Amino acid sequence: MSGAATLLRDVFGFDGFRPGQEEIVDAVAAGENALAIMPTGGGKSLCFQLPALMRDGVTVVISPLIALMRDQVRALQEAGVQAGALTSGNTPEETDAVWEALERRELKLLYIAPERLAAGSSIGMLRRIGVNLIAVDEAHCVSQWGHDFRPDYLRIGELKRALDVPLAAFTATADAETQIEIVQKLFDGAQPRTFLRGFDRPNIHLAFAAKNGPRAQILNFAAARKGQSGIVYCGTRAKTETLAQALREAGHAAIHYHGGMEADDRRIAERRFQQEDGLIVAATVAFGMGVDKPDIRWVAHADLPKSIEAYYQEIGRAGRDGAPAETLTLFGPDDIKLRRTQIDEGLAPPERRMADHARLNALLGLAEALECRRQTLLGYFGETEVSCGKCDLCDQPAEVFDGTTAVRKALSAMLRTDEWFGAGHLIDILLGIETDKIRQRGHDSLPTYGVGKEYTKQQWQAVFRQMMGHDLVRPDPERYGALRMTDAALPILRNEAKITLRRDTIKAAAARRPAVKAMVSEEDAPLLSALKAKRRALA
Ligand code: ADP
Ligand code: MG
Ligand code: ZN
Repeated sequence: MSGAATLLRDVFGFDGFRPGQEEIVDAVAAGENALAIMPTGGGKSLCFQLPALMRDGVTVVISPLIALMRDQVRALQEAGVQAGALTSGNTPEETDAVWEALERRELKLLYIAPERLAAGSSIGMLRRIGVNLIAVDEAHCVSQWGHDFRPDYLRIGELKRALDVPLAAFTATADAETQIEIVQKLFDGAQPRTFLRGFDRPNIHLAFAAKNGPRAQILNFAAARKGQSGIVYCGTRAKTETLAQALREAGHAAIHYHGGMEADDRRIAERRFQQEDGLIVAATVAFGMGVDKPDIRWVAHADLPKSIEAYYQEIGRAGRDGAPAETLTLFGPDDIKLRRTQIDEGLAPPERRMADHARLNALLGLAEALECRRQTLLGYFGETEVSCGKCDLCDQPAEVFDGTTAVRKALSAMLRTDEWFGAGHLIDILLGIETDKIRQRGHDSLPTYGVGKEYTKQQWQAVFRQMMGHDLVRPDPERYGALRMTDAALPILRNEAKITLRRDTIKAAAARRPAVKAMVSEEDAPLLSALKAKRRALA
């Protein structure tokens, strides 16, 4: 048995390592700089606690939450490990005792709150007491754009330079942008050994569905799981109330929960959910952080989450006990529009907005995936996976078709109307419907008027939703949500790339021949260059 495995058994009482732990322990114990990304509950603490015991000197652990530090210190002390904490929660006596133990070189682990680093004197003291490793827990707190940003985490890089010892960083946040920030801020840009492990939650079944009578979709999903605990995440506070009501009317035990409720009512709701069997909570994303219920059997999204990270966290609340759990995420063009607008109208700086669009794109890619969702999801987290057999697309493969022509028709209609309209009007043009708006604008004389009669209105809606999902078009907040093309649309418009779409509701109206009036063609080329020139001039 390796030294690490012996310590694991003798000190912590565990029979073996969880996936990924051993490699990380070995690298950190050997003094390599390391960044380890593992999901919540994956066992990150052990990955710095064991190396701390294997190395000479003291390991400094930086962690954002005092309560968390105290728990860990207590658990370590109970296991017979010399550990202490320096936080603002200490009594002066406790602080003195910690410093004395450090001076006597007795401590193996010293937990410190990041605020402590602000007192510059700490660095000198830490140098004096033989610190030999820095472990940074919840390392994503160094990211200025994340919701957990802790300014004092920015001092850790300075600490590392001053002490000149290896650093091991841990987080459950896997997106590429946060990783890059961690590497920049904690490792001065030098890529550490990076471990990315175990994001799969194999007991959770994944499923998405385009909205099509969403309330009935949620009620059906709940009805098939009657008597089981579940969460329905809703996009608005109002919806949590109306949906909880509808669920009660359908015979379920259901309550609502959102951040606008009184703190007492929120606590009561949390306690009920925790204790009662088979209760459903219709909630905003405010629900979840404080909830640790192992047997949540399902999580549904009545509206699209805001990013792939948020999606993963929210569905991750299901099936913590390892028993099978189900999920269903609904999405529609209005969700996409809402999320894009929220990003564009937010106060974040441009580079942050770009990253948020990319995270939303990743989620939309998952929603519009053509093959195994788990492959797509884990692929985003940098893991590879064979088809899982536990998602809707493994259960029943998506029906697909070559959507290139449909998309080019839609793009052409946009181009010929100067990107001034939303999907509704564009679909009217494609279908050749004589609305007042079409007559007033003279759009019935456009070459794209009526070229899309092979599909129904619903089918065109599915095409536009997928165009938004593939980020070929975005609602433009400066034009009241009119759709405009992204650069990703250009190769398709120029007929240089093809696109595969899900058939969804698209069952091509049989044998009705596509009206091939002047569709997308060479004629569009001058329009396209004119449009690009105009955009450049505006930019
Ligand atoms: P994280 O910080 O990654 O969320 P923790 O370090 O808090 O996870 O560990 C989660 C739980 O798993 C803890 O109760 C811990 O004791 C337990 N654990 C960690 N490693 C092992 C292991 N090798 N065997 C059994 N239990 C483990
Ligand atoms: Mg942890
Ligand atoms: Zn699958």
